[in-house]
Amino acid sequence: MLYQRSSALFDEAKKYIPGGVNSPVRAFKSVGGVPVFMNSAKGAYLTDEDQRTYIDYINSWGPAILGHTHPEVLAAIQDQAQKGFSFGTPTHLETQIAKLIVDNVPNIDQVRMVSSGTEACMSAIRLARGVTNRDKLIKFEGCYHGHSDSFLIKAGSGAATFGNPNSPGVTPGTAKDTLVARYNDLEHVKSLFEANTQAIAAVIIEPIAGNMGCVLPEPGFLQGLRALCDQFGALLIFDEVMTGFRLAFGGAQELLGVKADLVTFGKVIGGGMPVGAFAGSKAIMDHLAPNGAVYQAGTLSGNPLAMRAGLVTLGVILNDTEFYSRLSSTTETLAREISSVFNEKGISHVINRQGSMMSVFFDSEEVKDFDQAAKANHAVFNEFFHHMLSEGIYLPPSGYETWFISAAIQQRELDRTLEAVSRFKS
Ligand SMILES: *Cc1c(COP(=O)(O)O)cnc(C)c1O
Repeated sequence: MLYQRSSALFDEAKKYIPGGVNSPVRAFKSVGGVPVFMNSAKGAYLTDEDQRTYIDYINSWGPAILGHTHPEVLAAIQDQAQKGFSFGTPTHLETQIAKLIVDNVPNIDQVRMVSSGTEACMSAIRLARGVTNRDKLIKFEGCYHGHSDSFLIKAGSGAATFGNPNSPGVTPGTAKDTLVARYNDLEHVKSLFEANTQAIAAVIIEPIAGNMGCVLPEPGFLQGLRALCDQFGALLIFDEVMTGFRLAFGGAQELLGVKADLVTFGKVIGGGMPVGAFAGSKAIMDHLAPNGAVYQAGTLSGNPLAMRAGLVTLGVILNDTEFYSRLSSTTETLAREISSVFNEKGISHVINRQGSMMSVFFDSEEVKDFDQAAKANHAVFNEFFHHMLSEGIYLPPSGYETWFISAAIQQRELDRTLEAVSRFKS
């Protein structure tokens, strides 16, 4: 049996951990079957507990952009471990990484470190509310901003403009302050603003969405949001937890030339360690404690091991002027070749891609919002996932997720991947 040890480990995990996992998507609920337990990773490859290796297309959901256990990152973590793991005092490392980010990301003066993307987004909306003295926020259906209460909200029904809880435990009181709009539907956003004048603190969006599969903003959409936020006095928050340092060093702000008031980061910024951050102008960030009245804190925020891993990862990227063009071209080749194999086989599909993020939808129509992502044939995706897994290719275990290509993926890995795709029978 291929996954013998994973299977036994999953049974044991389920006894002690809810559902056997510490984050739900890992349980393979969407694709079915037993989640593969990994034991180690290097470069483009994962190795599971049964000693099988896989070419990795999730890369820890983005952080491992250089490939796994990159030698320079590993050396930095080992060196820092000798000096100490955590002090609970300021360190120079925190200023070094903040300076590197501020110097190379557009429209920000200051950055505050936290320990996850969830924390970054949660803190950013508190700050936006504190700065504007308003309560409500607009988010988009299909976008994910971590699991804090204000974001676990689905669109209300009928004429109701306020949202409903998307999880037990989220109170209706919290839900009424989150309005949910359709991605790529500027008119919808405008109508929410008009029905809630003087009430919207912020619009938060994944500028290139990755959590309903990869979905791109239509031309003018983000510019339109910028204009509406200016018109109605709301802050525009770009959640660049996924896109930051992945699509360009300056993320979507740099790539698409649209200015956000607050930006959140995570994933790549920690080089595989648990890190998030949020950033903005000095005028906005000055509202945060200890300078200002908006409270925000963290025992392990700016953790030295994590700062070292992040600094080296970001440094390797910055020192390589071809980094993003190479990553993008690898991904473009992968997408194009997969598409031509599917065309030969007569399999309907749509591949959305930006830089090193891509998703394959088994559908014949364009996918521009959550409803369209949901209409794709997820049963075929699940078959495709299991076929690829059996061929030693690790894809995200859900048709609503994005593939993350790392710099460790070379021609050899692309060739192996395409051979596996060519053996897929749907
Ligand atoms: C992953 C993700 C988050 C949440 O980050 P965690 O570190 O998992 O808390 C928030 N926003 C976006 C866009 C993400 O992709």
